[in-house]
Amino acid sequence: MQLKEINYGVAFYCDGNIEVNKNLNKYPKLYKDVIKHEMQHLKSKSDMQDLWIDFKDLFKIKKRFMLIGFCLLHPKALIADSPIYLDKDGIKYNLFNIVLMVIFLVLIISTIFILK
Ligand SMILES: [Zn+2]
Repeated sequence: MQLKEINYGVAFYCDGNIEVNKNLNKYPKLYKDVIKHEMQHLKSKSDMQDLWIDFKDLFKIKKRFMLIGFCLLHPKALIADSPIYLDKDGIKYNLFNIVLMVIFLVLIISTIFILK
């Protein structure tokens, strides 16, 4: 496993390696949590497992707040939160964010129909 520093997004896992935002070094607790999370993805054997890893991570409230703070201080980190994004290797997608977006859309549309 190789750890590579990047200047966008928060962190990514790909081909057995982890790419991590170089600015994350300034926040050791968050850095450790993010690397631990990406290591779980590296051990994952399916998209469903990856979804479960990301779902469980949603409820780590302290980490969520630290990530929001990190993204506010380093706006390029927000690239990773798009369902589909472009990086140096081309177009990539984040399945978890796509599922989350579909759930939100269904909730919004359902709410509109209920209110009518
Ligand atoms: Zn993840």
